[in-house]
Amino acid sequence: MRYNVRFKDVAKLTDEPLVPLKVEDLEKLPGIDDESPIQPPSAKWLERYDFSLDGHSPFEILKPKTQEEKERLVFGFMSGLEKLLDPQSNWTFLKILKLTLDYCVRCQTCSEACHVYISSGRQEIYRPTFRSEILRRLYQRYFTPSGKLLKSFVGADIELNFKTVWRLLELAYRCNVCRRCAMYCPIGVDNALIAREIRKLFSQEMGLAPLEILKKGTQQHLAVGSSTGMTPAAFKMFVESIEEDIEERIGKKIKIPVDKKGADILLIHNAGEFMAWPDNPAAFAILFDAAGINYTLSSEPLGYDVVGYGLWFDDMEATRTLLRHVLIAKELGVKKIVVGECGHAHKGLCVISDRILPGDLALSEMPRESCFPLFWDIVKSGRIKFDPSRNNFHTTLHDSCNIVRLMGIYKPQRDVVKAVCAKPTREMTPHGAFNYCCGGGSGFAIMNTLNFGQWRKKVSERMKTKQVIEAFKDVLDPKEQKYVIAACSNCKGALRDLIGQYGLFEKYNIIYGGLVELIVNAMVDIPPFLKWEFETH
Ligand code: SF4
Ligand code: SF4
Repeated sequence: MRYNVRFKDVAKLTDEPLVPLKVEDLEKLPGIDDESPIQPPSAKWLERYDFSLDGHSPFEILKPKTQEEKERLVFGFMSGLEKLLDPQSNWTFLKILKLTLDYCVRCQTCSEACHVYISSGRQEIYRPTFRSEILRRLYQRYFTPSGKLLKSFVGADIELNFKTVWRLLELAYRCNVCRRCAMYCPIGVDNALIAREIRKLFSQEMGLAPLEILKKGTQQHLAVGSSTGMTPAAFKMFVESIEEDIEERIGKKIKIPVDKKGADILLIHNAGEFMAWPDNPAAFAILFDAAGINYTLSSEPLGYDVVGYGLWFDDMEATRTLLRHVLIAKELGVKKIVVGECGHAHKGLCVISDRILPGDLALSEMPRESCFPLFWDIVKSGRIKFDPSRNNFHTTLHDSCNIVRLMGIYKPQRDVVKAVCAKPTREMTPHGAFNYCCGGGSGFAIMNTLNFGQWRKKVSERMKTKQVIEAFKDVLDPKEQKYVIAACSNCKGALRDLIGQYGLFEKYNIIYGGLVELIVNAMVDIPPFLKWEFETH
């Protein structure tokens, strides 16, 4: 059923969820007939934490009990909202925020573009405009003379209490910031930016952000060197172990360059690759060695982890990491930075840094590029011989929102696949710039506090599950091997999650992985590289 939630319901002083999610209300999944039900939060959790939006939460933060605690939440929000709308405090994104607040014509074209809204069974609270409209009405009511005076006559009718504030915080984390809605909006209104700006308000003003992206994310990144907790010494050990693994598998010793001054390229991976998918940096090392690329990795804190979680929720946190990445490259004297298979790092380093870094650190001073055009340059150069029959299985390409929709890097991946795979890739419907988010975007892939993982698996990853099954619908027989190319660490996390959740490996023999692994698997001078296996962690 669809729950008829009105904007002003976010102020309801009740712990009952506005939308109690049930599997039977969600969009149906083809090929899955034994889906497990959605589990409600435990009684202990309900007593301690707030689940009043949709029965889920990524915040292990005790509910405010005293009047003072409730007021602190409301005043903090008001103070943050004032700064969000102030040109001195929010010079980074105020213009597009104001345009979005002022010009939406409420046509709802964007709703049908949003995988979260559709997957949920079209629940009102997940419309791209729902959270934006609440912010818009609060802004009108408390910051404009007409709103203060006329309230509901000008649509500024939402009460501001601690429940409104809390539910708005939760709502900001029910959007993948994938910007598909913005692409479909006929006037370019960007509801993803609103979700991100609400997150920023809570983080920068009140220190409220999910544990995995703030404390264990950017703060750990800056303190230790990597959001994974990997120290520089541990990074060097990972590199050594990858070198040993390469030698064992291909019978050749390859020295991975680290801290090489004056190399052409500083290659930065998402450090999660070293821990969860070490075959990915190993494949880069084999390919770059064979192609004679003059590159280096860095062992400086932050220099070996390209993530920049602040991109999802906080300008200050984003700037701190981006700044370090560019400075490390300058200190090494490289000609450019190449970003490994990590979508949000593409957006952070190649796009957003030019908005928020000062002039002498801008793009012209330190070029930043994607690894995908370089892959295609290597493959088409003829320097390495490939045998596509090594990759004689079905593939489909998941397009990362940041790499494809935002940056328009669409063709190199396809050219590479055509050159190194035996069968033509099966395009998802839709794909390219129109592709749906994996459901793990904007930090969701790593957020598992309380029962948020359940919401991700059931709702935000649902559309991608459907797309994957449909892409292989005529070859679902497990005798046919199928590989989802997900050339982004975050997307790989989401693919691992959904393949595990819906049993797609056991049932249909579907696995996932990066793109560079396929290139290396097809190199004729070395033994096959790919391992056909699926692990849930
Ligand atoms: S954001 Fe754009 S598409 Fe969505 S309701 Fe507003 S004007 Fe229409
Ligand atoms: S950015 Fe993506 S997830 Fe967020 S509202 Fe738009 S389409 Fe939905």
